Amino acid sequence: MKEFELINRYFKGRGITRRDVNLGIGDDCALVTVPQNCQLAVTTDTLVAGVHFFDDISPRALGHRALAVNLSDLAAMGAEPTWVSVALTLPSIDPQWIEEFTDGMHEIAEYFNVQIIGGDTTQGPLTITICAKGTVPEGTALRRSGAKVGDWIYVTGPLGDAGLAIESRKQGISIEPEHLKYVNKRFDFPTPRVAAGQVLRGLASSAIDVSDGLIADLSHILDMSQVNAVVNIESIPTSDAMKASLDFNQQLPFILSYGDDYELIFTVPDSNKSMLDIKLRQYGVDATCIGQIKSGDGQIELLHNGEKFDFEPQGFEHFAKELV
Ligand code: ADP
Ligand code: MG
Repeated sequence: MKEFELINRYFKGRGITRRDVNLGIGDDCALVTVPQNCQLAVTTDTLVAGVHFFDDISPRALGHRALAVNLSDLAAMGAEPTWVSVALTLPSIDPQWIEEFTDGMHEIAEYFNVQIIGGDTTQGPLTITICAKGTVPEGTALRRSGAKVGDWIYVTGPLGDAGLAIESRKQGISIEPEHLKYVNKRFDFPTPRVAAGQVLRGLASSAIDVSDGLIADLSHILDMSQVNAVVNIESIPTSDAMKASLDFNQQLPFILSYGDDYELIFTVPDSNKSMLDIKLRQYGVDATCIGQIKSGDGQIELLHNGEKFDFEPQGFEHFAKELV
């Protein structure tokens, strides 16, 4: 199979067709129409074999994941995902592998009403680079720099599941089969919080997605907003799988400093809190208040049941992420 056959069979004429795509795959560029009074949100993420994923990852999961991590960035800005380009570098053309990989990618693209409008296909070490585009009403994008003193800090979904999946493969953590199935799904098929991001527009003062862990990603908000945070550790949401598999101290590195969960951290001014809580319920978005913004220059103070709590991420070196 040649490059153009691959594009025709697995990309062109597959997936959804959006009305705002004037020209899709097949020419030198795609052409799209950005709605009036909207800004274009653009993001790129690369996954490299051996660096960002294990060799034994299923091609379907890889296709899903490559798109999911990009849509997560759009979600964190409050953007509606619309179009993506896919740059694929493959060592060789294995039809079955490509079929499963593109199935995984088309499935999540369809779910979020995103059209694959182009890309590039080259030979080399397995690498997937996706450029995702979305639209956001002018001036409403959620930035990292907007947190203010007194704002409440929230996080969607449970944290730490992806890390638990990775470490249970590496270290043989004792974990019930049904919990293992759940955490593996959370790692292999992460759900970008696209609906949550859009609910937050006009209500949240800042947002970021959790790719590198709560402490690291909240720190980006704090640095860019020039504020501090108080975080109540016991409020951080965890799954039944996490609660059943690890005790409180063992959970800490997973919920505080492990990444790959692709949940959202966001801040909300007190004046918007009740409206936000109503909207979260209305749209079925699972989000939990875990702390508050204080004055400062980018520090996080951890509390456990109201008491100051010391946590040194480097004290848990054997949990240090291998994925970057
Ligand atoms: P060019 O030489 O102009 O870069 P290509 O031969 O690389 O064109 O690509 C032909 C068409 O197929 C273009 O519209 C391109 O966007 C699309 N395309 C190439 N690779 C992919 C891919 N992996 N996924 C989706 N579209 C692709
Ligand atoms: Mg090309």
